[in-house]
Amino acid sequence: MSDTQIPDPVLDPAVHVAGVQEVAPDVLVIPDRGVQLVPNIGVIGGERAVLVVDTGMGTANAEQVLAFASEVAKGRRLYLTTTHFHPEHAFGAHVFGGAATYLANRAQADDLEAKGPGYLEMFRGFGSPVADRLDGDVRVPAPDEVYDGAYDLDLGGRTVRLRPTGRGHTKGDQVIEVPDAGVLFTGDLAEAGQFAIFPWFPPYDTDVSGIGWLAVMERLAAGGHRVVVPGHGEVGGPRVLADVRDYLRLLRDETWRRRDSAMGEGEIAAEVRALLIERHPEWVGREWIEKGVGCLCSEHA
Ligand SMILES: [Zn+2]
Repeated sequence: MSDTQIPDPVLDPAVHVAGVQEVAPDVLVIPDRGVQLVPNIGVIGGERAVLVVDTGMGTANAEQVLAFASEVAKGRRLYLTTTHFHPEHAFGAHVFGGAATYLANRAQADDLEAKGPGYLEMFRGFGSPVADRLDGDVRVPAPDEVYDGAYDLDLGGRTVRLRPTGRGHTKGDQVIEVPDAGVLFTGDLAEAGQFAIFPWFPPYDTDVSGIGWLAVMERLAAGGHRVVVPGHGEVGGPRVLADVRDYLRLLRDETWRRRDSAMGEGEIAAEVRALLIERHPEWVGREWIEKGVGCLCSEHA
């Protein structure tokens, strides 16, 4: 997978538990601090149990998250779930073995098994500092419990909803809702302050679907969530979801309009990139625009 053109991250993807935000009562977020390949991590408490959402990449990061969650839990039972199989979200789950029950949706468990090893190899190929984070005993995790359909997790006085969305950013995305607090954890279905991450790497990985993702965002944006914790970027309100929905819509429309006139993919990518950067000059991750165009060209009827 050496020619996949993922830009080599230069910063160490280190999780820092300092600066934890309480976004609602007993709903904590360990923020990504704007560092690439660090996700926003959730710690959601009920009367009897605590759920961790995503692990950070590698053993040392996940050990910090587990230590923090254990401190918060004060003896309450621990659960872990991950929003999707990508390394910075799930490749620390091995650390939670024996300490937490790891729950995941069926499609994500399938992604972990089918694609996890290839992603581990690809990320180790990025070189230091990412490879260092994935050194040693890091392995592709296997959930303790895999559920079909939807899952309601009773934490005691609070029920958290684990909801697979269908194919979007990956085949196996799920969102985590805390209904009593109006909080939604989206994983990489939504980022704030950056262009939507399209892991479109033909021929190795073509699971991302622009059409599927847009349909997911239309549903999520209509869901009445008050606090939105994106996979990366700052915690916000419902606007985070609407922004991604609107971006995907525009990306699709601008790509398809040019495709209809039989323009080549390279030219489409250049034009759409310029247009979208003009629309969102402050957003980072511009390299993902072309990947999105490529994906949507493949989905053009
Ligand atoms: Zn991802």
